[in-house]
Amino acid sequence: MTQQALFIIFGGTGDLAYRKLYPSLFRLYEKGYLKDNFAVIGTARRPWTDDHYHEVVMNAVADDGHESDRTNSELARKFASHFYYQSHNVNDTEHYVALRNLADKLDEKYDLQGNRIYYLAMAPRFFGTIAAHLKSEKLITDHGYNRLIIEKPFGRDLKTAKELNDDISAAFSEDQIYRIDHYLGKEAIQSIAALRFGNQIVSSLWNKEHIDNIQITLAESLGVEERAGYYETAGALRDMVQNHILQIISLLTMEKPSKYTASELRDRKVEALQNIKVYSKEEALQNFVRGQYGEDADHTQSDYRHEEGTDEQSQIETFVSGKLETENKTLAGVPIYVRTGKRLARKSTQISVVFKNVDTNIFDSTDADSNLLDQNVLTLYIEPDQGYRLDLNVKDGGQTYGIMPIHLDYHKTAAEKAKIPEAYEKLIHDVLDGNRTNFAHWHEVAQAWRIVDVIREAWDSEKADFPNYVSGSMGPQASQDLLKRDHRNWIFDATN
Ligand code: NAD
Repeated sequence: MTQQALFIIFGGTGDLAYRKLYPSLFRLYEKGYLKDNFAVIGTARRPWTDDHYHEVVMNAVADDGHESDRTNSELARKFASHFYYQSHNVNDTEHYVALRNLADKLDEKYDLQGNRIYYLAMAPRFFGTIAAHLKSEKLITDHGYNRLIIEKPFGRDLKTAKELNDDISAAFSEDQIYRIDHYLGKEAIQSIAALRFGNQIVSSLWNKEHIDNIQITLAESLGVEERAGYYETAGALRDMVQNHILQIISLLTMEKPSKYTASELRDRKVEALQNIKVYSKEEALQNFVRGQYGEDADHTQSDYRHEEGTDEQSQIETFVSGKLETENKTLAGVPIYVRTGKRLARKSTQISVVFKNVDTNIFDSTDADSNLLDQNVLTLYIEPDQGYRLDLNVKDGGQTYGIMPIHLDYHKTAAEKAKIPEAYEKLIHDVLDGNRTNFAHWHEVAQAWRIVDVIREAWDSEKADFPNYVSGSMGPQASQDLLKRDHRNWIFDATN
């Protein structure tokens, strides 16, 4: 369906706008979701002209890596002509008056029906003042929809997240706020619900009677790169666990929604997060491990503390692994092992659901307890591969009745993957549709902080012995030991 809307992008000269927002809007334009009735105001401090802004937008589209002649293509030019630039300091009230006048003019020119999407592609410390000014200077219309998109980080703990939320809630209601967790825009993450609730063989086994444990690995091969400034204030726990990993856990552990709608899904996900056990400080230290990368084995890559912009004594973790538990009745007691880190052996995100051993191995003649069959494992490849793997035991083809493990594998082809909309494109499309299914509700964000804050506090009270893992490995030995003490291993490390 074609949409009518005005986008106002705060931080229009920034990295996020350039790399993600302009290319995503272009793809929506190419596909006809946006046609003649849309306009974009980009605002930031730099004194750009509209003409310069059009060049930037066309370059962003070209740099997105599609057809190389796109910069000059008629379509990109036509698309860019919908963009307007307004130099703006977010703290200056008068600028909002200028912004409102431009917005009203564009509303009329493009027949936008008062529909406005405010995208805050800026540091969160500005969110409160922007939201307050949008309200006080009457940019928020009363004859169309008004939707606010914000990006992580949503605070650095529950207290600051609540302050941030109170600030934006003074101007926007919860159903107008779209909190982006780009993992929720990924096809493979959205497919979790289809796998769980669209297959009887999966849904009937998705319980503590049959699942032994669940493992989630979000591994990055790169180091901190240019993000040291932000990373030094965050660390892997805040950057990856509080949001992406806990969102994934909520999708894996939630009860079945009665219908796949935004409100049903939100309620089930909130419940799922409320069911994750919030540890005491002692439990957090027992169940969570942190790490920071050192040099690689060949000494060619720098350790974290010698990256540009990091503190030489930094206590920031670039690696986290831990064990969480849900208290919901279906999966109570099933350990959920999570792991994420930088400079790991390879970039890959995978979820493995490990099933219990068969009760008795009738094919074994020795009667030894230790001669167990391999466990069935259902693996979800999230990225860069997308697909599924199922590990089974079958007869080995020999004279005697031997058993051997095999796996069924399904990988999306490059052509199939190319057709999948990129996460930001999908999410912006959802905002235009008013579909909040793939956005984080405040209750989810708050509960995720409650779970993570205890771990953070426990770690902050003790000095870490960093660096403690070699770049190119899968993290510190303590992360392996975390599973070994439960007589388990990371499936991820064995399957590749
Ligand atoms: P950036 O530093 O590249 O851009 C910030 C923008 O804010 C610039 O356009 C700058 O001109 C503008 N700005 C700063 N101070 C201003 C002021 N006082 N008045 C008006 N404009 C001002 O940052 P970014 O990487 O684009 O990130 C923006 C937000 O998105 C951040 O909150 C970041 O954490 C989040 N985010 C970014 C990415 C990414 O891929 N870049 C991914 C996830 C989340």
